[in-house]
Amino acid sequence: MSRDVRSPSVAACCGALLGLGAGIIRPRRADARFLASLRNAGLPKATATVSVSPLRQVPRSVPTALIVEGRRRPRRIENSLASFVVTHPTATFVVDPGVCVNVGERAVAQLPAVLRAAVKPSADVVPTAAALAEQGYAMADIDFALPTHAHWDHVCGLLDLPGLPVYLHRTEHDWVTAGSVAPVGGVRDSLEERPTIDYDLDGPPVLTFARSHDLFGDGSVVVDLAGHTPGSVGVLLHAAAGHMLLAGDAAWHTYQIDDIRQKSSYPGGLADEDRVEAFRTLHRLHAVKDRVTVVPTHDPSAARRLWSSANPSSLVP
Ligand SMILES: [Zn+2]
Repeated sequence: MSRDVRSPSVAACCGALLGLGAGIIRPRRADARFLASLRNAGLPKATATVSVSPLRQVPRSVPTALIVEGRRRPRRIENSLASFVVTHPTATFVVDPGVCVNVGERAVAQLPAVLRAAVKPSADVVPTAAALAEQGYAMADIDFALPTHAHWDHVCGLLDLPGLPVYLHRTEHDWVTAGSVAPVGGVRDSLEERPTIDYDLDGPPVLTFARSHDLFGDGSVVVDLAGHTPGSVGVLLHAAAGHMLLAGDAAWHTYQIDDIRQKSSYPGGLADEDRVEAFRTLHRLHAVKDRVTVVPTHDPSAARRLWSSANPSSLVP
């Protein structure tokens, strides 16, 4: 396993910690002019209906101040390393297979020390492969994985799913593999020795998102959510309950989208590759939040709403 990681500079780390205090007092303000300038290109015509199931995960409680800049209530919120199984008429795939067995040693140990304490999963975190088995999926049932981006907590579950093909935005693949070391938060082991299908965002604007890519030619699309990482995408799907957008880490919690609040400076300032672009993307999400169900990967409350709307009489897994 490579332990090469591009570490944030001391200055960046100090800046992030100082920014945490400043952000609590004076969070970055929404850009009303940019919000008003956004044009809504509408939803793609969907000819397929999918089901989306969150895999079981154990949330951890974290201070809200470490997730949503400037938000003080509630004092704590839940955060989880979620994954989703999408059942499409022609393929079944996993979005954000984010936890491997022994995640501390195999993934978190590769991260810069300054990030490890903030992101260390609890001992009872559920590996993606175990959660799939619990819910009755065999390896042969899954056709491919679709990470929203290539940070460790969205791909490292692949380590226990050998040979599973991965669909990856070409920009993201280039970002995480170019250069001598992986970017902060990125790991490479998960992508090695498996078929990787790179795609480009070659499709038209969708909703307020500038580019898209149609996965099956039926309105099941990925959309451009750049900022958190250069090639971050969201997965926009038509389900029985309506359209839903699996939004990766474009937001860590729904409060960020509702309030247009960026991630807290620590650790968000170290995790977001481009804070300006990430903040613009938050505006784009805010503008469509009443049109589609937006599910940030790490927000278990959003995953619960998703599950409840699709399975009104069932318990959340
Ligand atoms: Zn991320």
